[in-house]
Amino acid sequence: MTTLKTLVQVKLHHHYADLGEPFGTALPPTPLQNPRLVHTNPAVLSLLGIDSAEADNPQWAQIASGAVLLSGSKPFAMKYTGHQFGSYNPDLGDGRALLLGEIEHDGLRWDLHLKGAGQTPYSRFGDGRAVLRSTIREYLAGEALTALGIRSTRALCLVDSEEPVAREKLETGAALIRVARSHVRFGHFEYLFYTRQLEAQRKLVQFVCEQFLPDSTDSDAQAQAEALLRFTVARSAELVAGWQSVGFAHGVLNTDNMSIIGDTFDFGPYGFLDDYEPGFICNHSDHTGRYAFDAQPGVVLWNLNALAHAFSALLDTETLKDCLGQYQPLLIEAYAERMRAKLGLEIEDEGDQQLSADLLQLLADGPVDYTLFFRALSRYCGERPASALEALVPPAQHPALAHWLDHYDHRLQKETRPSGLRSKAMLHTNPKFILRNYLAQRVIEAAEQGDYQPLDDFLTLLQSPFDEHPEFESWAAAPSESGKHLPISCSS
Ligand code: AMP
Ligand code: MG
Repeated sequence: MTTLKTLVQVKLHHHYADLGEPFGTALPPTPLQNPRLVHTNPAVLSLLGIDSAEADNPQWAQIASGAVLLSGSKPFAMKYTGHQFGSYNPDLGDGRALLLGEIEHDGLRWDLHLKGAGQTPYSRFGDGRAVLRSTIREYLAGEALTALGIRSTRALCLVDSEEPVAREKLETGAALIRVARSHVRFGHFEYLFYTRQLEAQRKLVQFVCEQFLPDSTDSDAQAQAEALLRFTVARSAELVAGWQSVGFAHGVLNTDNMSIIGDTFDFGPYGFLDDYEPGFICNHSDHTGRYAFDAQPGVVLWNLNALAHAFSALLDTETLKDCLGQYQPLLIEAYAERMRAKLGLEIEDEGDQQLSADLLQLLADGPVDYTLFFRALSRYCGERPASALEALVPPAQHPALAHWLDHYDHRLQKETRPSGLRSKAMLHTNPKFILRNYLAQRVIEAAEQGDYQPLDDFLTLLQSPFDEHPEFESWAAAPSESGKHLPISCSS
């Protein structure tokens, strides 16, 4: 057991910043005016080995606003490029964020990355800032996905300030400290490839391998690159399977928003499904639906192709194809496993994929709330009429529901687990609480008025979404018709 650190005992490393040119630029943050601490995340403090009593330390406001640096910090803007909506953009990089350094705890290294830190050489025309609205959304999403067992960056703390920041309207500048095992994106490798900095590219491959694939580090550059690409393909497949199973749409799956270790990364106009709507587009500037919910499996493969192309100076075409070829079978397997768990199926049966596809078709024909349906299904035990489920499905679909339930009953007979235990397992797989857009909006509006209690409450629910929390029943409700279609600003 390692002892927990107080804030003054925290000492950052700066392995990435020490790579120096051409990996980015060292520069200090530009502090926000009159920062106010909105939240610190005890769960992330514990991940980092920091005493939870430090959650209330007012010093966080100074640190997250960029006014005070943690000991050992060497702030560094990372350079990357990427494909945005299918077109290559050479001018990207940390335009409003800085890697502050890394914390090591329990043998793991965590990056601390300050988002909203002011302008950098990669800001282009941007002001280098983030606003309260978008930082709250990022803060919530990291916790919601993590609790659902989906890899994601998280946030350590969040500050607001009195600094005016112009978006569609005048807002206030905010900042969060994003925590992840790595901030290396697909776009880091694309940058080094398209600028023909191949020695640096090898160095970055080695850097990532040392952290995540230590067994490969004795091998030559080519073997390391192959190990890394296989790792990223596999992690990305698992990631998409997770998103599709919980109804998460990322919204902006550009290659600069893709993490090399398969974390959900860079939250913009994301959305969790209310009604099960496969073609759901959460990003209002995505006019062609490139990043629609059901397009995610395909677009992540597109992104992996872009990454593989950036590896083409290190690996031959056959190897690249072979690495990419793993994606589809891994995705199908991981998704099938998640859906079996949602349906409470312990044994694998060849008809399971069809059973789950038939249910999704029924839900899509709805409208039916995705989360509420699976939560109710978790309590189903063969009753007819299946009133709790019927209450969630339009009457015209009740015959189709009964038909599907007949198949489901039949399939459940093959299971050996007692139904009580199945139900219990399903209630730990199918959440009661989900990060619905209308709830995020409620939390944001309160925070903009200086009331952070709804944020704190919602975080508690999202961090333990399978618990009943009877005192928070209203937070489990589906939105009203108007609440389903709240416009999400794409500016952040
Ligand atoms: P994003 O849309 O957040 O994924 O960002 C795409 C690119 O724009 C990245 O290079 C960001 O650093 C940069 N960027 C986004 N917003 C700002 C901003 N307000 N100021 C400076 N750069 C920004
Ligand atoms: Mg981004």
